[in-house]
Amino acid sequence: MTLTAIKKPSIMTSASQDLQLTDEGRLKHFLTIEGLKKERLTEILDTAETFIGVNSKSTKKVPLLRGKTVANLFFENSTRTRTTFELAAKRLSADVLNINVNVSAVTKGETLLDTLRNLQAMQCDMFVVRHSASGAAHFIATHVEPHVSVINAGDGQHSHPTQAMLDMFAIRRNKGDFAQLKIVIVGDILHSRVARSQIHALNILGAGEVAAVGPKTLLPEHVRDLGVTLHHDFDHALKDADVIIGLRLQKERMRTALLSTEDEYYRSYGLTEKRLKLARPDAIVMHPGPTNRGVEIEASVADGPQSIILEQVTGGIATRMAIMSIAMGNVEKSMNAIPAGTPETNFATAATAEIQSDEA
Ligand code: ASP
Ligand code: ASP
Repeated sequence: MTLTAIKKPSIMTSASQDLQLTDEGRLKHFLTIEGLKKERLTEILDTAETFIGVNSKSTKKVPLLRGKTVANLFFENSTRTRTTFELAAKRLSADVLNINVNVSAVTKGETLLDTLRNLQAMQCDMFVVRHSASGAAHFIATHVEPHVSVINAGDGQHSHPTQAMLDMFAIRRNKGDFAQLKIVIVGDILHSRVARSQIHALNILGAGEVAAVGPKTLLPEHVRDLGVTLHHDFDHALKDADVIIGLRLQKERMRTALLSTEDEYYRSYGLTEKRLKLARPDAIVMHPGPTNRGVEIEASVADGPQSIILEQVTGGIATRMAIMSIAMGNVEKSMNAIPAGTPETNFATAATAEIQSDEA
């Protein structure tokens, strides 16, 4: 079987929701934000908070994944995401394999399932998967052995749940209560897995208002069904904004001409210094990267005092550590590897205890 067997996103989404949870409703895989309970997202944010301390110390390690092997399976290029997953796994004391599948077995004709079976035979415990096909991580999760956890690091236009969680982490650290916030997401919403995952996360966390902004070609009416207000006038949408999230134009996903020119796009939807003044004075500016300066954001805004773009990257390591440790902990629990009587919050509690004892 090859990746052509991957199901359509709509079918896969509800199936992913079930597949990623244990019988007790806890995360063992992390495939999509959609359908998760608020407490699951809050658990990730709270756990990530405990890891922020680890990352700023001179010895940046906790032993939560000691003895585990994490394989980064990247079928699509990425620097930032792969690197932060690698650092997260290493800071949890796991062994890490980086497999750039484009240039390895698959190009020699091996099927994806053969690659997976070989990695499982090497006793890998976690697969971090990025793929240009929506549903790839779900497909892999349906085929792994019970002791293996799968984390979606971006699948096609479908979902990028760890990016959304690191964004939620950055928003909560800077702005506190989601209920009080107006969040504006601007740009290529149509092709953005990041925007889809962010919108689900913001709604689950109870954000005050989520406004989606873009030209009609990149912001079709059906996006409203995700639970956002739609705007084609960026200046108007910026009023009272607390958080502004820019998105990259996903040109690799545009099959037809959806844009007139980049200059025109910048004039209407570029986040410039002048425009930023229309938002609240203490609004923060975010972007998942890579940023295109002069296309979706003015360089002085990307580097300016309201930008938290680099803070997103730093917090991404703590957030990914949280997700990996929670998922692996739940896989172990469901395999009965953790003795009965161990408290529910075993991994997060252990993380906190470890950090405190280390700091003492
Ligand atoms: N696409 C970006 C990069 O390659 C960020 C990401 O991987 O999500 O750095
Ligand atoms: N890095 C993000 C992603 O991989 C956003 C982007 O590439 O524009 O989806």
